[in-house]
Amino acid sequence: MSLFLYMLTAAVAFGAWRTKSLTSGGALAAFIVGGLSVAGFGFTGMAVMGSFFFSSVLLEKALKSEDKKEAKGATRDAVQVMANGGAASACAVLQFFFPHPVLFIGFTAAYAAAAADTWASALGRKSTEPPVSIKTGRLVEPGISGGVTRLGNLAAGGGSGFVTVAALLLEPEVFSVVILVLLFLTAFLSQFADAWLGAAYQSLFQCCVCGEKTEQTVHCSKPAILVKGIRWWSNDAVNFAAVSSGSVSAMLLYMIVTGLNIY
Ligand SMILES: [Zn+2]
Repeated sequence: MSLFLYMLTAAVAFGAWRTKSLTSGGALAAFIVGGLSVAGFGFTGMAVMGSFFFSSVLLEKALKSEDKKEAKGATRDAVQVMANGGAASACAVLQFFFPHPVLFIGFTAAYAAAAADTWASALGRKSTEPPVSIKTGRLVEPGISGGVTRLGNLAAGGGSGFVTVAALLLEPEVFSVVILVLLFLTAFLSQFADAWLGAAYQSLFQCCVCGEKTEQTVHCSKPAILVKGIRWWSNDAVNFAAVSSGSVSAMLLYMIVTGLNIY
């Protein structure tokens, strides 16, 4: 059974590479993240990860902008895969050695948070109202980190709800209403952490050729100049921090709710 699941994970990673949803490094990272999910949580782990992965890929493909430079960002590399799947993989590795229900909560919360972020940025781009900075409350340019829209917030709730419900259907005995609300809330809050960390510290560069502001360190084949934030505090670093904080806070709240009975 698990050999079949590992082969299925490899097939999905290969397919994602062939359809340009992942770079070759991204596909390898996805196979590792998927393999760890199977090792830790079996079919359930793979399905929860799949609910994040397939919904995000399909949303991004469906809403892909005609604009070439935005469309380019839809192929995820290994760093982006690890930013979304790192916290969940840590839960899966721990589950393999020290199984405990709290780790499934952390695993689910991580993918719920990742889905909230991906859904919010895919749908938020389609918002007709201009984004507002979560830090200053002022209007910001679309596509710049730290900007939030009502449509994006709604999408974040949809993404976290989707993954949470998938996990609930797979492992109904783990869940109560309290835990469902907890998972939904932590994923949603991590989306605000993402926006706030993005607005406050994320690096922004300006192209020295065309003058465009960008999150890329290279633009028009020339190194871009840092105009804001901390150089290494990239969108991926912000993502990793937000997803991890969602996962950790869900586990802490779960332990409080269940009366701190860790062994
Ligand atoms: Zn440029």
